[in-house]
Amino acid sequence: MKKFLNEFKEFAMKGNMIDMSIGVVIGAAFGKIVTGLTDCIITPLIALIIHALFHADNTDQLFSSIVVGPFPIGQLISTIIDFLITAIVLFIIVKAINQLQTMGHKDTEEAAPTVKVCPYCKSEIAIDAVKCPHCTSDVE
Ligand SMILES: [Zn+2]
Repeated sequence: MKKFLNEFKEFAMKGNMIDMSIGVVIGAAFGKIVTGLTDCIITPLIALIIHALFHADNTDQLFSSIVVGPFPIGQLISTIIDFLITAIVLFIIVKAINQLQTMGHKDTEEAAPTVKVCPYCKSEIAIDAVKCPHCTSDVE
């Protein structure tokens, strides 16, 4: 179970899953905007045109219905605000995850050994040294 969790963590942290889920969320949010646009502009427009064609008795009535409008713009604005909030929250999450990932990289870099101990004089020397600078012994 622990191994499974570690594998899942690795998969999730690689960014593939993060990218994928962000795509899904943004796609859904954007779909809402498209739906909102249709609901708020296109559907009322078609209704208005049909109404104008078949029911408007005169042009005055037609203009007044256009000015007052059946367009629920507030609904569209709230949909766009929803989208923006979703995008901002996602951005913050991605930033946090990226920060965690770079922190993780730094940790592994620091954990990698850069020095070794000379077997003859026990002083710390560079990991790729072939000769100890302290006692001049040959080190492998
Ligand atoms: Zn030495």
